[in-house]
Amino acid sequence: MKKFLLLISIFSCLSLAAQKTYLQCGTVIDVSNEKMLSQKTIIVSGNIIETVEDGFVKGGSNDTVVDLKDKVVLPGLIDMHVHMESEYNKGSYMKEFTLNEADVALESTVYAKRTLMAGFTTVRDLGGTGVNISLRNAINKGLVDGPRIFTSGMALATTGGHADPTNGRRKELMGDPGPKEGVVNSPEDGKKAVRQRYKNGADVIKITATGGVLSVAKSGHNPQFTLEEIQAITSTAKNYGMSVAAHAHGDEGMKLAVLGGVNTIEHGSFMSEETMELMVKYNCYLIPTISAGKQVAEKAKQPGFFPPVVARKALEIGPIHQSTMAKAYKKGVPMGFGTDAGVFPHGKNAIEFGYLLEAGIPVKESLKAATITNAKLLGIDNLGQLRKGFLADIIAVNENPVENVKTLEEVVFVMKDGKIYKQ
Ligand SMILES: [Zn+2]
Repeated sequence: MKKFLLLISIFSCLSLAAQKTYLQCGTVIDVSNEKMLSQKTIIVSGNIIETVEDGFVKGGSNDTVVDLKDKVVLPGLIDMHVHMESEYNKGSYMKEFTLNEADVALESTVYAKRTLMAGFTTVRDLGGTGVNISLRNAINKGLVDGPRIFTSGMALATTGGHADPTNGRRKELMGDPGPKEGVVNSPEDGKKAVRQRYKNGADVIKITATGGVLSVAKSGHNPQFTLEEIQAITSTAKNYGMSVAAHAHGDEGMKLAVLGGVNTIEHGSFMSEETMELMVKYNCYLIPTISAGKQVAEKAKQPGFFPPVVARKALEIGPIHQSTMAKAYKKGVPMGFGTDAGVFPHGKNAIEFGYLLEAGIPVKESLKAATITNAKLLGIDNLGQLRKGFLADIIAVNENPVENVKTLEEVVFVMKDGKIYKQ
């Protein structure tokens, strides 16, 4: 009995003195006020920021102190558009015929870790085979190191549309995929497809409102869903507590998606002024992904990197992307931050900040988009800021990113959910 009581008292003492982490930060970026604060200590308890104190505070003997006195500390970054299952290279189009699901899963763990180590502590995965749902679960269980994932599972397309999984195949391999496989051809199909995604464990719905660059199909522009189909999808998604992201390059399909009630437009390459105004009116957010535009335009110049039908679209759509983003920014279109990583190597996500800067978007604003705005779009109240009660997703870089944006490409410290992954 005595022994038992002693054990209880030891355990209660331990819990009273639960270990905390003290991050002594030379500079902290206050993303909400776009300010640089000097000499702060962020105190982390469990997975939450307990408080942020002035000066360098030391913890007790049980606590961990991390010296970031010569670093610039900011919230973990959020990328609203990645594809964790894959990474494009010259042989990519063969992979669906040669890789088993287990191969895809194992590859995705490598990309997930690389993404986290690059300072992206949260991502939204906008389309894969469904392995992305298992990846999310494995990361949440602590089995795999990676960012916090919000995933769409498989994207939704129309027959022959951008995310139809059997595009470009010979007849016997094409089959006739339906809502379960992500192919929708009526409002009823749209409802079924959304409900199926919900059942499969998706967090968000992705539709391909227009043609796209990397699908083996002729048009990168054409509208692919009717307004009625989009409305059926957005209203059903809303019932299930999910938002809808719409891939769109061409203006007509993009406009339909905005009118149909989607929450974000991905890429937005040929967005007209009229659609920009509509985006403002409907409070629809643009996710830029300039990195993907740059990558496909460059790779398309290498003979044989893409199939000819893809290379042609890449050369047409890739180069216009950045200038459209510049116009949209000037027009006051609400913008989040996203890259389409997977189209280019995972872990290089931060190159987007430099491209946004070239498009006239100040680093302070793109950092706000990649933290506060994206957290809001994901519907997570306590994410994306270094404040009391927020999730302890914290990263550090060597220099002030406002003076040297490239420093964001070399993240030196990563904490996610209170756990240190890189130091
Ligand atoms: Zn994408």
